[in-house]
Amino acid sequence: MTGTTRELWRVPEASVDASCIGERAAELVERLQAIVAEFRDVRFASSMAAEDMVVIDAIVTARLGITIFTLDTGRLHDETVQMTARTEAHYGVDIHRVRPQSQDVASFVDQYGVNGFYDSELAKKACCHVRKVVPLNQALHGADAWLTGQRRQQAVTRTELDLREHDSERGMTKFNPIHDWTDAQVWAYLQHRQVPIHPLHDRGYPSIGCEPCTRAIRADEEIRAGRWWWLQQENKECGLHIK
Ligand code: SF4
Repeated sequence: MTGTTRELWRVPEASVDASCIGERAAELVERLQAIVAEFRDVRFASSMAAEDMVVIDAIVTARLGITIFTLDTGRLHDETVQMTARTEAHYGVDIHRVRPQSQDVASFVDQYGVNGFYDSELAKKACCHVRKVVPLNQALHGADAWLTGQRRQQAVTRTELDLREHDSERGMTKFNPIHDWTDAQVWAYLQHRQVPIHPLHDRGYPSIGCEPCTRAIRADEEIRAGRWWWLQQENKECGLHIK
């Protein structure tokens, strides 16, 4: 097939030198230290994918006392569940699993079917609301600020990300401490610092979410093309990051 490739996306080779990564790592720790100095209770929502592993590594190695949690939607890959346990063992930390309410899930399934998110945008939003947004809101209850691993380069919906945002939905400040990192810097950081890497990254998944809504991508696709692949790029958010 001319002009296209069937090759799966692959983890980029380390193309950034160690001194550059050292500078970015130091800057990241400074950003996190400033957040912790300003806010009493800071929490980090991690998916265990590459960007979030950068942030976890910085939080833990700099001993910043930021609570780390993950949204266990009930539809994750087994590899993600195992990655959470592996990360806890590697760093000697607890990662809180936040799960949806069983009654909310049952109501969704009754109305739309267990995989009803394939059938309409409305059902997809309803599923993400029950399995992600409500648990996120619960996980952030009582916090002053929260962190994400989002980056501008990840998607057309994220090109204007700032370090600091006001999360009006939850009435608190939200930080994206690696918003201005490149793909190459993320992968170089992970490789240079020997951070645990989610095994699905080696199988063509640059971005990892729930199992039924995430697929491997080709090398010439956008890095979030495998998330809700049946939708347009502009609709590839799940309600966690509404501005
Ligand atoms: S990503 Fe898919 S399975 Fe996961 S909560 Fe959203 S619609 Fe449901």
